[in-house]
Amino acid sequence: MLNIIDGKRISQEILMEVKTKVEELKSEGKVPCLSVILVGNNPASKIYVNNKKKACEKVGMKSEEYLLDENVSQEELISLIEELNNREDVNGILVQLPLPKHLNEKVVLEAISYKKDVDCFNPYNVGKLMQGTGTLLPCTPAGIIELLDREKIEIEGKNCVVLGRSNIVGKPISIMMLNRNATVTICHSRTKNLEDICKKADILIVAVGKEKFVKDFMVKEGSTVIDVGINRNSEGKVCGDVDYENVSKKVSYITPVPGGVGPMTISMLIKNTLIASTQQKIYIY
Ligand code: NAP
Repeated sequence: MLNIIDGKRISQEILMEVKTKVEELKSEGKVPCLSVILVGNNPASKIYVNNKKKACEKVGMKSEEYLLDENVSQEELISLIEELNNREDVNGILVQLPLPKHLNEKVVLEAISYKKDVDCFNPYNVGKLMQGTGTLLPCTPAGIIELLDREKIEIEGKNCVVLGRSNIVGKPISIMMLNRNATVTICHSRTKNLEDICKKADILIVAVGKEKFVKDFMVKEGSTVIDVGINRNSEGKVCGDVDYENVSKKVSYITPVPGGVGPMTISMLIKNTLIASTQQKIYIY
């Protein structure tokens, strides 16, 4: 039987759980705060930042936005990050990507204090993730684990194949599945015999960025397929990396696009802000 994993519903559940915790903190006079920095006028980035602001409002958190000019210097940007690092009333800091080309993304992201690194891009948090001791976990991979857990899909001992090795999705989700005792195979553009490897997956996680990349003949009957991809098809509609129509006839669990992994990313960001705030001193407003 096919189970469509409803990321929209699960992400709302998580937001409501965070809201309850935020209300408890508020009753003690404490309000978690997320600071978001946006450089330039990228329309997609503006939408993402706005969605993050709305999610903060929904759970009763404070959010603040810093809209910086496209030509802002690296020094100015880092000086703002340092100011936010030092503010005790700010619990999470997020720099919206991508950054304009003249800014060094790696240097900018590493400037964010690991305690406020709610995207989990700081090497300290990446190291903790590797050790399996991280508390702030990368949002999209953490969202995938939540989907599997809340659908009661067993991870331990399962063959998990991850397509993609990016620092944002492929690598961290591979480590997180390994930390949960899955047997993990990571595939990329130079992988040989991809079809054979995918067919052995009990859990196939796809983060490639290519429409209909995973076809029905590549998946195991009764398996779980998590589609991380966000693409636009020829009609301009949002679609994932999996040929959903045909693959869904063969598997037991699948995430749709939209409405699968996508909504989880923001919810996990909000959850990380709550976690960061409970690990720091929070100030009264
Ligand atoms: P990325 O940095 O472009 O990485 C894509 C990965 O796919 C690379 O590791 C690449 O291999 C691999 N790949 C490309 N062609 C391949 C092939 N023919 N066979 C096997 N592997 C191949 O992308 P990303 O940032 O991880 O994102 C992947 C997708 O997820 C995108 O559609 C993105 O929009 C989406 N995404 C969604 C969310 C969400 O919230 N749902 C969050 C982040 C990303 P190489 O390393 O060898 O080049």
